[in-house]
Parts: sequence; C-alpha cells; structure tokens
Amino acid sequence: MRLEPEIWTAEVVYLGFGTPMLRGGLAVVGDHVAMTGGLEELQRAYPGAPVVHKGKALTPPVANAHTHLDLSRLPYFEGPYVGFIRHVLANGAGRGVEAARQGLEELRALGAGAFGDIVARDAVMDWLLGHSDLPGVAYREVIGPDPGKAHDVFAALKPQLLAWKKREGRVKVGLSPHATHTVSAPLFRLLVEFAALEGFPVQIHVAESPEESRYVRRAEGGFVEFMRQMKLPVWTPPGVSPVQYLADLGLLGPGVTLVHAVQVDEADVRVIAQAGCRVVSCPRSNRGLECGEFPWALYLKHGVEVALGTDSRGSSPDLDVRNEALHLWGKVDPRVLVRSATRGGYRVLGLQTPRITRGSALSQVQSW
Ligand SMILES: [Zn+2]
Repeated sequence: MRLEPEIWTAEVVYLGFGTPMLRGGLAVVGDHVAMTGGLEELQRAYPGAPVVHKGKALTPPVANAHTHLDLSRLPYFEGPYVGFIRHVLANGAGRGVEAARQGLEELRALGAGAFGDIVARDAVMDWLLGHSDLPGVAYREVIGPDPGKAHDVFAALKPQLLAWKKREGRVKVGLSPHATHTVSAPLFRLLVEFAALEGFPVQIHVAESPEESRYVRRAEGGFVEFMRQMKLPVWTPPGVSPVQYLADLGLLGPGVTLVHAVQVDEADVRVIAQAGCRVVSCPRSNRGLECGEFPWALYLKHGVEVALGTDSRGSSPDLDVRNEALHLWGKVDPRVLVRSATRGGYRVLGLQTPRITRGSALSQVQSW
C-alpha cells in the first residue's frame, strides 16, 4: 500500500456538504482521506506532498435521480418528443426485468451512490425491492388519461402500493403519475393525495417538450395528432402552462419532484419554489428530444434544489449523471453542477448525502 501522502485536487472539490471548493483538495494517505480543505492549507500541512490533478471534479458518489431502468434495452433515439413516444411504444417488448437488471448493473459499474427509477411493470418493482443493493426510490408509473376510469385505476393500485411498501429495504416505493397529458385530473388528485397521506415520494414529468405546452395551453400540435391516432380523447385544455396546471390541481408540495421542467417561465419557477418542489433535470435527453434548455439561472435565482438524471437509455447514451454535468461544463457554474449531481439527487431521493471527511475510504470518492 502507498503510504506517502498525496494531495488530490480538481477544478471543483465537493465534500458533500458546505460550498464546493474551486481551489480545494484532499490529502490522501493509503486508501483513506487524511485531511480536506483549501489547497494552500493542505500544502502547509503536507509539505512536499505531490499535488495530483484528478480532472474536473472530486465528489462523493453521484446520484442518478431520474431514470427508467426497464427501458435499458431500448435503442437510442434522437428526434422530437412525440417521435420518442412512438419509439417507446414500438419497442415495448424489450421492457422488463432483464432490461432493469442490465440498467442496475450499469449504475453499479459506474459507482453511482443512489438512483431514482420510474417503474412501468409490476415485475420490475418486485425485482428491484428484492434485489437492488443500491439505495433509491422506485416510483410506480401510472398512466390513465380517461377521467371516467380514475377511481378504478386508483382502487386497483392502492393495495399493491401498500403491499410493496411493506417490503421496503434499501429501495423505497414511490409513485409517478406520468405526465400532464397522460393522467386525468381526478386520477392525479387521488394519487398525489394518497402519496402525501401514506408517505410515498412522487415524481411527475412536466413541461418537458414544447408540444406539451401547446397541448396544455390550447390543445394543439403533435400531441393532438398522436391522441387521435391512439383513439384517445383530446381534452378541453386547461389553458395555462403545464406547471400552472399542476399547481391549479393542488398537486405541488415538498413531497413532489418535477422532472424536466424545461418549458417554464419565471412565474412557473416561482410557483415551483413557493410550493417547495424539487426538480430533476436531464440535459442530454432534453437536447436529444428537442425539448429545449433547462433555465438554470432562473432556478438558482429562486433557490430551487435541482438534481440531475439521465432519463432512460432510449434518450441517453449512458446512465452516468457525471456526463450530464460535463455536458454543461463551462455553460453553468461547475459548483452548481457538482452539487446537483450529488446532494440534489440524494435530497430528491430522501437520503443523506455521503460526506468526504477525515478517514473516508477512497472508494467513497469519485474523480471525474
Ligand atoms: Zn423520464
């Protein structure tokens, strides 16, 4: 074992708490961290120790706050969002436990510390609860656009959710009413009210694509065509922004995490901040599906906690949230990105952020 001390540094060093450091580092002895702090302070404490540059960031293990592991066998797709939905439906056969197993293996190989997964199949929920050694939340996805069926859908789901909750271990059970356009208003209310009462964390896809905004505001655009093809009813639009629509339904609160939230203006972000919601951004998926750019400055201004997720392998080349942050490196303050890839994710998932302190094992330090 190497016992000569080294000083590790990177563009940003984040210990999992406090402010990410621009001229920070870790003194490393053997397999452990011996000291953390500013680079000059470390050099005074360890005179002559070599300074080793470890790249862009040194952090605790990152957390992927939003993925769809059961889509890990879906071929990668780029193009408009409505095209992606068709792509998912056309490749539905590859969805299931084998794909989820593959996705979880990938997360483990990447050294991820936690994950938030949207689960579309009961068998996948059973498998994750029984087999995942990575902590996280498995959010049962619910789709139900027909308001007339809301009570039946909810009544069928409720006992299942409560039974899964009894099996919680490292993985907790959550609930994901899919999106503004795929869940009816009464079903949304039933699900979110139930989740708040029983303590299920919630993730909702919202304000993802420009088509969604057109559909919610005016019932126009690609979604209308899609609904007609699928023989689904086209609704009378609420006539507001997607975020405002969820707020008007009384759904927003601290237990609800909004996924994407790209197509927003300042009024929407204020609503999100005031409700105490957190947000997960999936930058590469948004770019690939032509959904626009996440307004980081607006969210920072209003103090909203932002996490990073990759979304599924169908719209992301890998499940590594470090690549989400690196994709934005130089465009967004790297300290914000590093914190989103770690603390933001753990907060969304209801977990403590792992800390790097004196005595931490190097296996708990990621360089990227
Ligand atoms: Zn998603």
